Amino acid sequence: MSQVIIGVDLGGTNVKTAVASRDGQLLSKDSRPTHAEGGPDVVMDAMQESITAALKGAGLASKDVLAAGIGAPGPMNWQTGVVYSPPNLPGWHNVPLAELMQKRLGYPCYVDNDANVACYGEYWSGAGRGADTMCLLTLGTGVGGGIVVFHKLLRGIDGTAAEIGHLKVMRDGRLCGCGSKGCLEAYASVTGMVHTAIEGIESGKKTVLTEWCGGDLHKITGKMVSDGVAQGDEFSKWVMNETGVWIGLGISSLINLLNPEKVVLCGGMISAGEVLFKPIRDTAKANSFEVPGKRAEIVSAGLGLDSGVIGAAGCALARYEEDHHK
Ligand SMILES: [Zn+2]
Repeated sequence: MSQVIIGVDLGGTNVKTAVASRDGQLLSKDSRPTHAEGGPDVVMDAMQESITAALKGAGLASKDVLAAGIGAPGPMNWQTGVVYSPPNLPGWHNVPLAELMQKRLGYPCYVDNDANVACYGEYWSGAGRGADTMCLLTLGTGVGGGIVVFHKLLRGIDGTAAEIGHLKVMRDGRLCGCGSKGCLEAYASVTGMVHTAIEGIESGKKTVLTEWCGGDLHKITGKMVSDGVAQGDEFSKWVMNETGVWIGLGISSLINLLNPEKVVLCGGMISAGEVLFKPIRDTAKANSFEVPGKRAEIVSAGLGLDSGVIGAAGCALARYEEDHHK
């Protein structure tokens, strides 16, 4: 059998591993707790154990592996594989993750930003398969992003490109987690959606959400807004629609900037379905130029929760082939 690629999605809660073939087929998977509180060595133990288990699940061993890719939370240097100080990995400070894992595993290891890796996964083997140029937005607590232009991740000179969540959509707008104001993320994420709900209620709008949160507006969650939509609460529908409009506005800028074939959406928020996708598509189309607006298809992710692990494998293969001039 030709050699396989390992993909690892290193999250603050779980380490997920996939074994993939060179053409992007998933051969086996493993998932286990990260034990982030234990610091870098404990986390690397978990990654190593997860890789061993995933290989065993596919009936394979280390000798069958060409390379491994790790999608890690930023900030990091993707070229050296050094991870700086991710907020959800306590005790990590300038950890040379690629080098340390390569020593443990005995085959080449590559580290990339987790949002870029998810984008590459969708490009390689998911909803973006066959596209030359695409972008991905992860819609969850925050808004992450990745961009592939003519088959390659757009990384920027310092590797910091594709921070789609921090596109500015409003002058002096809401304060974003990054410290800046008016970022897309402050409107288009779950956090932003809850913020929109709180502002609406404070301006006097009536909704079932006030009752559900017991009058403490800061207890409102994204799930409550979705439940409100499901129960026909007009205000919840308005909040969801507003959120879709903000997302669509950000996407219209991406469409005008990149002229992509696909805009792939993933993350917890996309389970809202058409009630969110319709305002996203309508707003994106209304605010972009005709030709790129017609070209860009806005679709949900094809790999579900696996875009990160499969993408980490895909990135590793692309980088291995580049390193070996193939
Ligand atoms: Zn920001």
